[in-house]
Parts: sequence; structure tokens; C-alpha cells
Amino acid sequence: MKSSTRRTFFGMGAAAPALLAAAKTQPGQEAGIDYYDKLGVTKIINAAGTYTMFTASVMPPRVQAAVALAAKHPVRLAELQKKAGEYLASKLKCEGALVSAGAASALTLGTAACMTVGNRAAMELLPNDVQSLKNEVIIQKAHRYGYDHAIKNCGARFIEVETPAEYERAFTDRTVMCHFFNAAEQGQISRENWIRVAHQHQVPCFNDAAADVPPISNLWAYTQMGFDLVTFSGGKGMRGPQNAGLLLGRKDLIEAAALNNNPYDETVGRGMKVAKEQIIGMVAAVDWFVGQNEEEMQAGFQRRAERIAAMLKDVPTLKYEIVTPPAANHVPHLILRYDQSKVRKSPLAVAEELRNGSPAIELNPATGRTSGSAGLVSDENTIVVGVWMLEPGEESIVARRLHEVLTKAVG
Ligand SMILES: *Cc1c(COP(=O)(O)O)cnc(C)c1O
Repeated sequence: MKSSTRRTFFGMGAAAPALLAAAKTQPGQEAGIDYYDKLGVTKIINAAGTYTMFTASVMPPRVQAAVALAAKHPVRLAELQKKAGEYLASKLKCEGALVSAGAASALTLGTAACMTVGNRAAMELLPNDVQSLKNEVIIQKAHRYGYDHAIKNCGARFIEVETPAEYERAFTDRTVMCHFFNAAEQGQISRENWIRVAHQHQVPCFNDAAADVPPISNLWAYTQMGFDLVTFSGGKGMRGPQNAGLLLGRKDLIEAAALNNNPYDETVGRGMKVAKEQIIGMVAAVDWFVGQNEEEMQAGFQRRAERIAAMLKDVPTLKYEIVTPPAANHVPHLILRYDQSKVRKSPLAVAEELRNGSPAIELNPATGRTSGSAGLVSDENTIVVGVWMLEPGEESIVARRLHEVLTKAVG
């Protein structure tokens, strides 16, 4: 018996050390297995920013702890959603709040809410059978963007406008919502005028501000400005779970959004489940984020950028600038430029070398490209370092690797 136990145990091969480690801890305090290592998944240093493809952010320890505690108990999902929503609404100074499966899912649920509010029978008609429903969404042409599909998922269609006069004329008896992309770099119609005209026609207004904290006060600024619905991504600046987000706004619309969400089966939101761990994680992240000191936080990012720049000061011809985009990703970014006839390596090639190095580092995707993140001025001659998602101490690793790769290319 004894020997067969041992054989089985040793037969587990690579898992054995982890099991041994777990066996030494107290019940309920399992050390856990590092499944990234077990699966051979590369851990990266995130010098990019809150990008979905790089898993956006790392939750602060306090949020991670809240998630782990939530995992220990079943609860009633509807009660959890309701109480989380009430807590968030009061904390964020709006009528209603819903934890969604990210901002993209909030766009879908918010649109579904506008299409079905006061008409529960309509929910089953989305997205294919909406002929009997209002389904026109007015948007400025310059606000069309990569998240359109989240709205189209409801069977809605866009009516594009450019001038204020076109906007006035665009309303019909099928207009269901007016959509605004908060970080759009162009568009003739301001937020205030967008809201005013929509409300003259009794049409609700949605503002997608997914990537637009900090400033922290944006979490209530847009609902207080009069937007009926506003979304923020949970995994971006707030550093909550990547698959969570906030839908904030008018109470009746938030209630309608909740009805279009799981646990209800015949709804457009049935596949957008947020587990109890992530609902709690979102609430804990909001608590963490609104408790931050804005100036200290921004000054900390600025110091990181300056520290990296200082460690690169002997790279020939290198010049730097620290830039804060106006709306989305409104935090200091480090921009590096150098003479490529002296340092013979393009920013794209530098990014590739850091990506494939050890430890693996991802620079901001605007590196070496003209079209980057909203508000960042970049081109084929710029390296862009996003510093805000670096963990303590990682800035010196990033600086050391940049220094290595750039000085090696001098010649
Ligand atoms: C990131 C982003 C989204 C999507 O957010 P998720 O939380 O990843 O779903 C939507 N809109 C804008 C403008 C964004 O930047």
C-alpha cells in the first residue's frame, strides 16, 4: 500500500513538487500551482499599456485578495448583481450601475436596454427580428470605431451625421439611441450639444469612455453631464478583472440592461456572464481606484518615465519626451527618438528584440507606427514606452534592455 502510493506519487512527474508545496500549507491556504509555468505560457513585462491582447492590467493585491475570498462561497447571482450595482451607483454618483463583461459588453447591453426598455417582450427579438422596434443609432461619422460591432450585435444600425444641422435632421420615429465616442479625436458636435439635441427628441445618449480614466472624476463626470449611459472598461485604468466593466446611468435603462443580461436565457447578453469573483473584483477595483491620490499616481508614472530616460542618456543621439494623451490613456508615456544612421536599428526591430528577449517585454504598439493609441504622436522613428502598467522595479529592467539593444546597434 505504502509503496503503491509512492509509485503513484512519483508517477505524477512534473506536478510532484507543486503538490508537495501545497501539502505543506494549511487547509484553505493552498499555495496554488503556477499554471503559466505549467502550460509554458510566457510571462511578459507590460511596457505597453492596458491593451486587451496583453491582458490589460494586473489587479492590485487588495483586489486579488477580494477575488480570492469571493471564490470561496456560492451566492445568489441576481442578489450579487443588484447589491453590487447599488453600491457602485452610490459610490459613482449615478442612478444605476451594472457590472458587465467589459466595456464592449456594456455597449451591447446598453443598446439592448434602449431598444427594449418598457417592452420585455422585445428582448427575444434581438438581434434578427427587430423590424417592429426602434433600431437606429445616430453617431458622428468621426466617431465610428473598432467597437461598432458591439452595438450592431443588437440588430441596431448606424445613422451617420457630420454637421449639427445633419444631426437635427437625423431623428426619425425609429431613432433609439445617440452614441458618442468619448476619446474621438474629431467630430463637430460637442458632448453637451450631443446630449441637448438628443434629449429634445427624448432619445437616450450613450458615451463610451472605456479607456478614459484617469482622471478618476470621469467616473461621474459624464453621467452628471447628462449622458443616460456611460461605460468604462474594468481591466484598464481601474485595474479590475479584465473581463469586467461598468455600465452606469439612468435607473430604468440599467434595469433594462440587467434584464437583457444573464442569468436570463433568451437574451442578447446571455453569453456575457460575469462570474461572482469578477463582480466582486470590479467592486473592489472601484474602491481601490477612487481611493487613489490622483496627483501622486500621475507623478509616480512621470517619475518612472524619467527614470527610464535617465538610464538611456548615454545612447548616442537619443532624445526623449514625456507625453500625456488628452483623453484615452491619459497618463505619461515615454517617447524616444534617435538618429537611425547612428543607432542602426528601427523602433520596430527594437520592439521585436525586446519581445523575443528574456524577460519578454512588450512596448506600446504605437512604437514604429504612425497610427497608434489615440492622442499619442508616433511614427516609424519613435519608440513608445507605456509605463503605467509596469510593476515596481520593472522600469529598470525595461531601461536596461533598451540600453543593451540600442547601444549594440551603434555604428
Ligand atoms: C477598450 C475599449 C473598449 C472595450 O473594453 P473591454 O473592457 O475590453 O470590453 C470599448 N471601447 C473603447 C473606446 C475602448 O478603448
